[in-house]
Amino acid sequence: MSNQAPHDGIVDLHAHHVARELIDAIRKDDGAHNVTVKTDDQNRAWVHLSGRSANAPLAPGLSDIDKRLAWMDEQGVAVQLLAGWMDLSAYNIPVEDAKWFTRLQNETLTAYVQAHPGRFFGAAAVPLQGPHAAAAELEYAVKTLGMRAVQIGADVDGMTLDDASLDPFWEAASGLDVAIVIHPVDVGWTDHTRRYFLHISHGNPSATTAAAAALMLGGVLERFPKLRFLLVHGGGFLPYQFSRFERSWHVAPPANKPAAPHPPSHYVRQFYFDTMIHDAGALQFLARFAGPDRVVFGSDYPFPMGIQKPNENVEAVAGALGQGAQALMRESAITFLQCNC
Ligand SMILES: [Zn+2]
Repeated sequence: MSNQAPHDGIVDLHAHHVARELIDAIRKDDGAHNVTVKTDDQNRAWVHLSGRSANAPLAPGLSDIDKRLAWMDEQGVAVQLLAGWMDLSAYNIPVEDAKWFTRLQNETLTAYVQAHPGRFFGAAAVPLQGPHAAAAELEYAVKTLGMRAVQIGADVDGMTLDDASLDPFWEAASGLDVAIVIHPVDVGWTDHTRRYFLHISHGNPSATTAAAAALMLGGVLERFPKLRFLLVHGGGFLPYQFSRFERSWHVAPPANKPAAPHPPSHYVRQFYFDTMIHDAGALQFLARFAGPDRVVFGSDYPFPMGIQKPNENVEAVAGALGQGAQALMRESAITFLQCNC
């Protein structure tokens, strides 16, 4: 793959891709690794993981590379960081099966990165329910496949990101100096939380907020100060409620005292924030909160909740960062990925 970043154009750090070859390989495996694909009577493909269905059928836009490139060209997006679809994160299947599945995801995604030099970087999938296996897959993804980032869930099938068992993975990510994208996983929601699409509008940003809080307050960022994370969907509710977390560190009673020796403000620079927000005022608030070097563009392509007009989104951020916003955001994306450019 090319490590060259674009000299102009938007860099999109939040986009999802599922290779057709991945789905073909799952069908061929015929359930041997607890991953299956079933087609419904409307010809939609549903992935099942240890019998648990993804929450939606595979969106055709996840796999249509020509349509993606046409959209990128039309909208001035020079480069996308391609990450998998979190419904396929497979944290609930046995580790040995997840090792097979994440390797397949990483290899099939990398083929598209390599086939279109300069247009894509790849974010790895890892079997995070087995932290040592996840560390090994990350090393393979970075060193052998040239992937620039890793995408992980805001939790690991219910286990929070401050769980000490994850330390071998954090250690590997820190040693490899690889960027980490935290993305909510759409599982575990009840009918109650799904009503009105609340699992997407409220559940996803809520999960990201909780993940960031766990990393700061639980001491992970204290133990691994070199780690850097992208919080998608504008960081969830974290920017708006940050002072609440800061205050809680000071006033929490002994029984609930955060493990971290410093308040959240000591660690917040380890977070980057994407601009997947549909409101100019909120984008400007985010840019002022995060600082000009911690805001990056994210579209959430190809999902309907995402940003369809990147230029309008960047222009809104410029209300806070000034007219050089696009260049600043590109520089921040390049710094986040640590690409050689
Ligand atoms: Zn997304």
